[in-house]
Amino acid sequence: MSYGFKLACVSLAAFLIVNWTAAMMVSGIAPAAIRAAAGMRARSAARLLWTLRMAPSAAALLAVMALGVPSYLRFEPEGDGEAVGAACLVTALLAIAAPLNSMMRSARAVWRSRRAAGLPIAMAGVIQPRLVLSGEIPRLLSSEELDAALRHEYAHAASRDNLKRLLMLLAPDSFAFFRPLASVERAWKKFAEWAADDEAVSGDRRRAVALASALVRVARLGAAAKYELVTPLIEEDLALRVERLLDDSHPPARPAIRGPWTLAACIAGLAVIFAIILQPGAQSGAYALLEALIR
Ligand SMILES: [Zn+2]
Repeated sequence: MSYGFKLACVSLAAFLIVNWTAAMMVSGIAPAAIRAAAGMRARSAARLLWTLRMAPSAAALLAVMALGVPSYLRFEPEGDGEAVGAACLVTALLAIAAPLNSMMRSARAVWRSRRAAGLPIAMAGVIQPRLVLSGEIPRLLSSEELDAALRHEYAHAASRDNLKRLLMLLAPDSFAFFRPLASVERAWKKFAEWAADDEAVSGDRRRAVALASALVRVARLGAAAKYELVTPLIEEDLALRVERLLDDSHPPARPAIRGPWTLAACIAGLAVIFAIILQPGAQSGAYALLEALIR
């Protein structure tokens, strides 16, 4: 078997194994993370859950690209005629099936969301989101309600929620019909809605009431079509959102300010990762694992 074929096979298998292991670990802490998120500002909660949802695939990609591939290129002798074992081949095939399935789902979602037909008000598009507004909406809503609804949609655009949806579609998390990270994804959607509500309202009581009223009026138009890469004004949990907007005991939060903490956490994370990769034994250890996987 050729060197390149073996490398591709073992990389894919390693990606799948790291991804599944990490996904199971994340699904183990998911209930506690979702509970903790409930006590946070909506935008911070959404960020935490999105990071958790993406972490297994990111870790798997990093492990393969930064450790697996370099160690294989360094230690695997060329042309030793060693064959890839059946288990490795099957795992590699499964590893191709998962992202292939995600890519097909994503391509279909991008195609469908181009028109976003039948939606009263929504933000559509991944790279350059644009507002979809049906003709009846400016007649249905007062100018204050329309302003609040548009602010909600522009908050989705500013936080790149459609791009986040696409990346989630692309990051495989399924074991056939079992999706261990589905609860994290659902919780992310809820907090992303709440965060867009908070940013639309930005602490203004009148605007909170206007947005709640806009939500109810648009909901009366009836259920709209669903698109994976479109954020409509109303998706689910309408009653909860209206209640939250009208709740006087919790003044509507001002939008969170992205502090230097995010950057500091990223730099610290990368430093830890590079410290591990640059350990003298790390590459040979990774190679030993890959060798065991090949057979
Ligand atoms: Zn929304």
